[in-house]
Amino acid sequence: YRNNPATQDIPIIVLSTKEDPLVKSAAFAAGANDYLVKLPDTIELVARIRYHSRSYMTLLQRDEAYRALRVSQQQLLDTNLMLQRLMNSDGLTALSNRRHFDEYLELEWRRAMREQQQLSLLMIDVDYFKAFNDTFGHLAGDEALRQVADAIRRSCSRPSDLPARYGGEEFALVLPNTSPGGARLVAEKLRQTVLALDIAHTRPQPDARLTVSIGLATQTPEIGSHCRQLISAADKGLYQAKAEGRNRVVVA
Ligand code: GH3
Ligand code: MG
Ligand code: MG
Repeated sequence: YRNNPATQDIPIIVLSTKEDPLVKSAAFAAGANDYLVKLPDTIELVARIRYHSRSYMTLLQRDEAYRALRVSQQQLLDTNLMLQRLMNSDGLTALSNRRHFDEYLELEWRRAMREQQQLSLLMIDVDYFKAFNDTFGHLAGDEALRQVADAIRRSCSRPSDLPARYGGEEFALVLPNTSPGGARLVAEKLRQTVLALDIAHTRPQPDARLTVSIGLATQTPEIGSHCRQLISAADKGLYQAKAEGRNRVVVA
């Protein structure tokens, strides 16, 4: 009984003809719950069976309650994780949203300040996107944004790199501990990957392909500075990339 998982907790009352302490202790050592010498009268036997049955049922109920508790605790953990993910991600592209980007950049800015490391930021904007929507419709526009987001996701490889949707058709890519040269490589690869998506567009010429302009900045944060500096520098690069004809990377 005790070796079989299905019966191991079932109460056992040993009925014996012997009062011998050795036999008695052997019975308890083997897992008996009770030990009666000779057949007791019916009232006592029924009372003892009732007692052991009840404690057995209580044991089962307790185990079941613990099991249910563990399941609901796990469900709560899963739900919290899912909520956290939803709270941090953009609905259309599943990249990090603006809220999470702000938090992350701030965190990495302070880390780079402490460790005096270079922090790079790419600001990415889809070219002539208003015209894309006007020509192909907003659903096609949404699909194009999803594809660009995928290209951004694929263009970075370190776990600490964070691609995000900054807003509308603008994206950002945070590259911690990355030199201007390294960031430039990532940006150029991304620009080419978007071009290679081969999404038909009508601007700037009728047989054009959808492209992005990228502004790039790298800084080693000075003590007491704010990460707005980095955003504003990358923004200047982006502005210049647009002014110089789009579909290019400009280092601020
Ligand atoms: P530029 O080359 O100078 O960047 O020109 P642009 O037309 O891309 O820039 P503009 O800022 O004038 O237009 C951005 C457009 O992006 C306008 C807006 O309708 C579109 N857009 C923003 N968010 C979304 C979105 O979630 N889905 C779709 N389909 N379009 C969006
Ligand atoms: Mg644009
Ligand atoms: Mg824009």
